[in-house]
Amino acid sequence: MRVRFLGTGTSFGVPVIGCDCATCRSPDPRDRRTRHGLLIETGGTRLLVDTPPELRLQLLKAGIARLDAVFLSHEHADHTHGIDDLRVFSLRQRRPIPLYVAREFDAGIRRRFSYIWGDARPQPGSAVPRLDLTLFDDRDIIEPGGLALQVVALPHGAYRSYGFRLGGLGVLIDAKSVPEDAMEVFAGVDVLVTNALWFGDPHPGHFSMEEAVATARRLGAARTYITHIAHRTTHEEIERRLPAGVAPAYDGLVVEL
Ligand SMILES: [Zn+2]
Ligand SMILES: [Zn+2]
Ligand SMILES: [Zn+2]
Repeated sequence: MRVRFLGTGTSFGVPVIGCDCATCRSPDPRDRRTRHGLLIETGGTRLLVDTPPELRLQLLKAGIARLDAVFLSHEHADHTHGIDDLRVFSLRQRRPIPLYVAREFDAGIRRRFSYIWGDARPQPGSAVPRLDLTLFDDRDIIEPGGLALQVVALPHGAYRSYGFRLGGLGVLIDAKSVPEDAMEVFAGVDVLVTNALWFGDPHPGHFSMEEAVATARRLGAARTYITHIAHRTTHEEIERRLPAGVAPAYDGLVVEL
C-alpha cells in the first residue's frame, strides 16, 4: 500500500496570506502546505481522502489521471471545497465517481454543493461532477473501490470527523481524540496518519503535537506521520522536536507499507 500526502496544512494553508513569520517566509519547500488531501493506492485501487481547495494542483503535481473512489472525512471547507475538481474524473471515466460521506453530513454536503445534487441541470456544453453518494455510520465497514475501511467517528470540537482503519493503516483526520471504545480499531497499526496543529497550548478541535504523540503511543503505532499542520513551527524544527517513530508529513511525501 502506498500513502501519498497531497496536502498537509491546516485550514489556512502555509504560508498564511499576509503572514511574515519564520515558517511563512521559509525557503524550505516542506513549509509550503496546501489543505488536507491524502491518496491511498493499493492493489490497483486509488482512493482519495478529502477534496481540499487545491485538489486540482495537488493531483496535477502527483500525476493522477484516474480515481476509483473518494472518502470525505467531514464537511469543513478545507476538506471539501475542491469537490468540483472531481468533474474531470467523472467526465473522463464516463461514470459517476463513488463518494463516501457520513450520514450526518448528507444534508450539509447537498446544501453546500446544491449545484451538484439540486434539480437545476447544467447548461448544454457544461458539466457538474457526477458523484455516486454512499452514506455510512460510525463503525461501519465500507468498501470504496473494493477496499475494506472500518470508519470511526472522531470528536472534533463541537463537530465530528471520520477516520478509518484500512489493513495496517490508521487515519485520524481532524480529531481531538479517539473515543476509548474505538482505540482497539486502531491498535497496532503499522502506519498512523494523524492531524496535529502545533506544540503547546491545546486547541478545542484538534490534537496538539503532544496529544498526537501520546495517542500514537497508546495505539502502539510503529510509524506515525503528522499532517494538518499550522505555521507556528518550521518543518525542520517539528522534525527535530518529535520523538523517534513520529515525523511531520509534507506535501508530496509518499509512504509505503
Ligand atoms: Zn481541517
Ligand atoms: Zn506564518
Ligand atoms: Zn475540520
